[in-house]
Amino acid sequence: MVDLKGQYDKIKPLIDNAIQDVIDKSSFIKGTQVQLFEKNLASYLNVKHVISCANGTDALQIAMMALNLKPGDEIMVPAFTYVATAEVISLLGLTPILIDVDNETFCIDTKLIEEKITINTKAIVPVHLFGQCANMDEIELLAQKYNLFIIEDNAQALGSQYTFRNNITKKAGTIGTIGITSFFPSKNLGCFGDGGALMTNDDNLAKKITMICNHGQSQKYVHDIIGVNSRLDTIQAAVLNVKLNELSNYEKARNQVADLYDKLLGNNPKIKIPKRSSSSTHVFHQYTIQINATERDNLKSELLKLNIPTMVYYPIALHMQKAFNLDHKIGSLPVSEVLCKTVISLPIHTEMNKNQIEYIAQSINTILQ
Ligand SMILES: *Cc1c(COP(=O)(O)O)cnc(C)c1O
Repeated sequence: MVDLKGQYDKIKPLIDNAIQDVIDKSSFIKGTQVQLFEKNLASYLNVKHVISCANGTDALQIAMMALNLKPGDEIMVPAFTYVATAEVISLLGLTPILIDVDNETFCIDTKLIEEKITINTKAIVPVHLFGQCANMDEIELLAQKYNLFIIEDNAQALGSQYTFRNNITKKAGTIGTIGITSFFPSKNLGCFGDGGALMTNDDNLAKKITMICNHGQSQKYVHDIIGVNSRLDTIQAAVLNVKLNELSNYEKARNQVADLYDKLLGNNPKIKIPKRSSSSTHVFHQYTIQINATERDNLKSELLKLNIPTMVYYPIALHMQKAFNLDHKIGSLPVSEVLCKTVISLPIHTEMNKNQIEYIAQSINTILQ
């Protein structure tokens, strides 16, 4: 699904030097590379503050802590996403309100949010799934109308740009009250372990987030609020500083793969290729097609016989996960439930060549005749 070794080989001397430098200075925690990376990412995204942390899941949790969300508060979140998005909501004793997604973009269906808003609703957490932005025009309107926070889960769409109806363009993760992202190795900007970050334009929130990431500390051994220990290691920051320079090339490479897949698979009547949003660019964290549920698992196993890996993101919608203990009935979030049975994600990464893409597409077209 990814070729992290191939990607590393192309920038090996830069990465190796950056890591060696951290070891030589033995500045493993809060070394200069960490602040430098926060600055570099902030300028890449055109946002005032980037605060790094240990992983994307922590970033979500820290965002909700910083916004003072309290047990009983209801948080709107799509039912078709990675578990982390809703997990931290439950962990903090908040109530996840799962919303169905749009069949074309896989993102939260903004037409279904308003009917679920109550006096307890405090925030919407749009997930920019697979690499393109949710409908942020509608989400901003709802947030203004009902005075809600927006926490963008931007773990999969770093670099993606959203153009509002008034023609203003912003980078994903910088639109809401707080944006979060992940540097898990297979994400579009991945480090060599775990990493994450929060983005905000609000100075006070940035201060609070920085404190929460570091045990709620305002000065050494002075703790004003309850926080966590969630920091980006200096070695990871050093790797990310090198790889951030490559991010736009990585985005181009992924789009080239997607364009070729579109061309080779788009005419197969059994395949629904991913829809490109008219208001968002796509960074193709995943290239996810939809096919008939009766053929999906067979396609997956036939491709595996040809050494072609595929993944089902995601096989179970969140309202059907035991962990959340929600009393949703089957059919209550129908689009999410159907997608779990019909989606399949194909290999897409920065090191793919034309032959590989053609081999995969031809194999799929042969199986799905
Ligand atoms: C990867 C991911 C996360 C969590 O990031 P980690 O760094 O693995 O904790 C959260 N949300 C989404 C949508 C993700 O894809």
